[in-house]
Amino acid sequence: MDLFEKCYRYTDAKEAIRSGYYPYFTPISSTDGTEVVIRGQKLIMIGSNNYLGLTTHPKVKEAAEEALRKYGTSCTGSRFLNGTLDIHEKLEEALAEFVGKEAALVFSTGYQTNLGTISSLLGRGDYVVVDKANHASIIDGCILSQAEMRRYRHNDMENLRRVLEELKNEGKLLVVDGVFSMEGDLADLPNIVDLAGRYGCRVMVDDAHGLGVMGPGGRGTAAHFGISDEVDLIMGTFSKSFASIGGFIAGEADVIGYIKHHARSLIFSASMPPASVAVVYAALQVIQEEPERIAHLWQITRKMREGYRSLGFDIGSSQTPIIPLIIGDRERTFRMWKELFQEGIFVNPAIPPAVPPGRALLRTSYMATHTEEQMEKVLEAMERVGRRVGVLRKEV
Ligand code: PMP
Repeated sequence: MDLFEKCYRYTDAKEAIRSGYYPYFTPISSTDGTEVVIRGQKLIMIGSNNYLGLTTHPKVKEAAEEALRKYGTSCTGSRFLNGTLDIHEKLEEALAEFVGKEAALVFSTGYQTNLGTISSLLGRGDYVVVDKANHASIIDGCILSQAEMRRYRHNDMENLRRVLEELKNEGKLLVVDGVFSMEGDLADLPNIVDLAGRYGCRVMVDDAHGLGVMGPGGRGTAAHFGISDEVDLIMGTFSKSFASIGGFIAGEADVIGYIKHHARSLIFSASMPPASVAVVYAALQVIQEEPERIAHLWQITRKMREGYRSLGFDIGSSQTPIIPLIIGDRERTFRMWKELFQEGIFVNPAIPPAVPPGRALLRTSYMATHTEEQMEKVLEAMERVGRRVGVLRKEV
């Protein structure tokens, strides 16, 4: 049997493209953040993680240009050897301070941060405890670590208690998203740290969608709950609020030092390019200098949350700028996606396994740079399309 046989027989994507219901790998030819152009058509973007709208901020772009001029385009090597710049270390200090930890370590992507952190800390005989709705990069890190993985029902504290109770006295780490990436709900961190503490289990929070958005000054979900000290490790990505690419892990200096010398995704992969590093540093400054951005993001978020609810959409228990429109079946989800696209609205459809079976949804997310006018247009289009496809809960 030829290994490539399955590739020749794989026709799902080609059939979806032919039928016009293929929402993936859509090429954007230009963008200012809130608006994109795709195949000549202008669309309002409500499917991006650019929460603070910093990808086009003049200070942020200027920082990238300056780093490019000073250091060139790439580090052409790993952090471990020739790929550490002074700005990598400066950024690590700033990030540690931002999230209230002793030390931080930057990786080339958020995915690699989870992979390297989890697999370097845990090994055979250890336990890793995860929420069922955690991001794929956490799960991949757990698989790579060879620790025994125990999953608890989404945000179900009684189920978590039972899972913890059954573990033997070995190394234990609980890893959880601070803000869940598909439905925008928050992890019950106060109860998680309390339970984990009682069972001698360390806690790591993946705050990809919380940093820059949640808590005082955008310092994240743990800061929102006032429990940053009780969370052992805080992880973040730069591909969302920080308008760049890369990721970091922050915690006690000794723990970060250990990860730095054992994480294979750090040691055997080239470091973050200079311009990407400079962007994150500049973004951190803008976040502190322009607090009105976070305030406006929340104003837009509240407007959309209320708007969707009054139209009769099911938005689950979203508490953040990620607002899901839960539809259920994939057929109506794809129909909604397509009709919205035709109306000039860009959203992301999410179907199993990205979401639980029967919970297909459109993932919408908002930006500090969205205008009230754009949001009015979105709500009007949503009402028309929602009615046509029959997903609104009540007639309004
Ligand atoms: N964790 C979470 C919760 C995420 O949503 C993502 C990105 N979708 C990642 C980790 C991976 O981050 P990156 O895109 O920087 O690799």
